[in-house]
Amino acid sequence: MARPHVLILGLGIAGSSIAAHLAAKGYRVTGIEQFGPLHDRGSSHGDTRIFRRVPREGAAYVGMATRSWDGWREWSQLAGETLMVTCGGIDAGPADSAVVAASEDLSRAHGLPCDILTGTAFNQRHPLFNLPPSWRVAFQPKSGFVRPDSTRVFLHAWARSNGARLLHDTRVDGIDPGTTGVAVRTAHETIEGDILIASAGGWMPKLFPDLALPLTPERRVIAWFDAGASADGSVPIFCLDGEGGWYGMPTPDGMIKLGHDKHLNQRIDPDNPTLEPDVADATRLAPCIQRYFNGISSEPAAMKACIYTLTPDKHFVVDRHPAHDNIVLFSCCSGHGFKYAPAYGGIAEDFIRGVARPDLAVMGLKRSGQRTVRYSE
Ligand SMILES: Cc1cc2nc3c(=O)[nH]c(=O)nc-3n(C[C@H](O)[C@H](O)[C@H](O)COP(=O)(O)OP(=O)(O)OC[C@H]3O[C@@H](n4cnc5c(N)ncnc54)[C@H](O)[C@@H]3O)c2cc1C
Repeated sequence: MARPHVLILGLGIAGSSIAAHLAAKGYRVTGIEQFGPLHDRGSSHGDTRIFRRVPREGAAYVGMATRSWDGWREWSQLAGETLMVTCGGIDAGPADSAVVAASEDLSRAHGLPCDILTGTAFNQRHPLFNLPPSWRVAFQPKSGFVRPDSTRVFLHAWARSNGARLLHDTRVDGIDPGTTGVAVRTAHETIEGDILIASAGGWMPKLFPDLALPLTPERRVIAWFDAGASADGSVPIFCLDGEGGWYGMPTPDGMIKLGHDKHLNQRIDPDNPTLEPDVADATRLAPCIQRYFNGISSEPAAMKACIYTLTPDKHFVVDRHPAHDNIVLFSCCSGHGFKYAPAYGGIAEDFIRGVARPDLAVMGLKRSGQRTVRYSE
């Protein structure tokens, strides 16, 4: 039997990885994206994203992390360039930090390497850091960072080489679900397919207003601080459980890239974002550099704003549309969805083939499970 024609609405990292996977598996694929191939108006652009082999957000993510640990290396081979850099990473915080405990527990439960250090011992290993001496530090050698823009370039080329039709600068204005197929309307054409994967990030609530999806787009700002020669390949990525949560990583050009887990809690309309970073953003981020690093100016060398799409429990939304079997909602949101990209194609394929995924119940529309582990305030 011929494989179904899959329409993919939105080519951020979710849609791009699903398109590439399905095309490689012989599906007919049409991807539709409102902006250009490397646009920076969603959540999937830029130079780096954290990869953590230990997904402390919960057991539901372990399978994705396992698949992705292999997947990033397979993709690097296919792309002919390094898409994942394994520099190690830490979850660090006070002795009672839930983040550090979750990281340690999950490592132990799944036999993943994890060294527990004091802040003092960690600072001695990595003099760029100035963590409080009494902090607990869970060091994971299998953490690092991945390369968003290079990954999107690779995925689009790979998808096309397997026959996918990828339309950019093409906005979907409407979805018409039918009983045997589904169609999407753009300014120029109506495209018909058998099944639709909706991977539209912060625009999902606008596309499905009747579903009252629990997705809130927020404005976030990331800053780069010049660490010069100190930010060599030995600097680990970091998640620090202080003042509501900091995360960051070294970049290949000698910077420390930094974000705050809540930043300024600003809701935005993704079609009308007020994104330009300003002094309030710099002031929000500077304390992390002042408190937890040595010898780095807390004046950002650069800042960039982008869209974070959040659920109240910080889990993804991956489920079938409650009224239309041939629409799958796929939002790898809440600020931790880039790293698992190599796993998304297989998940989407399971939905297409009707394979049950009880392991993803926590991402369903009717979930009532646990929240992800949170940074302390
Ligand atoms: C600043 C920042 C830092 C982050 N750090 C990390 C990290 O370190 N590690 C990690 O794992 N994750 C991280 N994340 C999260 C991760 O990047 C996101 O979860 C992920 O990129 C979301 O991808 P997506 O494809 O679901 O959404 P998006 O990237 O937003 O893609 C959705 C796409 O749909 C398109 N679209 C929407 N509506 C339409 C329409 N009507 N017609 C056509 N196209 C449409 C949009 O233009 C967009 O391209 C971070 C996110 C941000 C913003």
